[in-house]
Amino acid sequence: MDLCNLSVIRGLMSEAGINFRKDYGQNFLINRMIPEDIADNCADTADRMILEIGPGIGCLTKELALRFKKVVAVEIDKGLIPVLDKTMAEFDNVTVINEDIMKVDLAALVERYSEGMEVSVCANLPYYITTPILMYLLESGVKLSTITVMIQNEVAARLVAKPGSSDYGAITAVLGYYGSVRKLFKVSAGCFVPAPKVDSAVVRIDLYDEKPYQPKSEELFRSVIRAAFEMRRKTLLNALSAKLPYSKELILEAIRSTGHPDTVRGERLSTEEFVRLADYLYTNS
Ligand code: SAM
Repeated sequence: MDLCNLSVIRGLMSEAGINFRKDYGQNFLINRMIPEDIADNCADTADRMILEIGPGIGCLTKELALRFKKVVAVEIDKGLIPVLDKTMAEFDNVTVINEDIMKVDLAALVERYSEGMEVSVCANLPYYITTPILMYLLESGVKLSTITVMIQNEVAARLVAKPGSSDYGAITAVLGYYGSVRKLFKVSAGCFVPAPKVDSAVVRIDLYDEKPYQPKSEELFRSVIRAAFEMRRKTLLNALSAKLPYSKELILEAIRSTGHPDTVRGERLSTEEFVRLADYLYTNS
């Protein structure tokens, strides 16, 4: 069964009495090369568990099942479960879970299904909730080796942006703490049904085994980044002074410790420099 064929998709959905749900960000792939390319590039070895978020009718799930030892697919839409039962029936290495990924106990899920194997995440993400899902995965504390996701092209540009560019933001700086990101390829809106308004891109995050920089307080590190980008037109000094409970003098010293001028804006600082700044505040307050 070609799960990227439009009439197959429509047939399966009408048989199940369901329609595309906009509130769940349902844009299904209709170009078979895309799930093949994503599955080919989402991890380096076959002996692993893949956590898929939002399998839809299973077009990417199938390609993952053909390449990896175990696939666990979490789908929020109850109406899609009978469809997946059917489309995944031939694969005994696929487990479908009807849940909201944001409510899943990731550690328990990995413990139950990974059998000690490495775990990677792979997904064509629902766009309404891309950043929360990424942050949820990164902050879960669960050991993941790669996260490969299809997201809006403009969000992809933010994830891979370099310090100083207009796309560089809080998510870029935070992500740099967890791993390295690269954009794999762009996907045009016409490859989906219904077609979204904007193009998409696939990015892969390779999580660090050992993080290169370890802030003394993760909470403070995150607060500093949040404050720096909440008021991105302001200088870093003014943005941090407005939001953080430290004197302007101390914040200025902390900024100077990064080697940047007093008037620098937050978007100029790399992840490592944010760590240094946060550590200075932590140690000297
Ligand atoms: N993987 C399919 C594909 O590539 O054609 C579908 C991708 S579609 C962009 C996003 C999928 O995520 C939908 O199946 C949607 O129902 C599901 N979804 C949306 N929010 C979710 C959530 N919070 N937890 C789990 N699945 C979710």
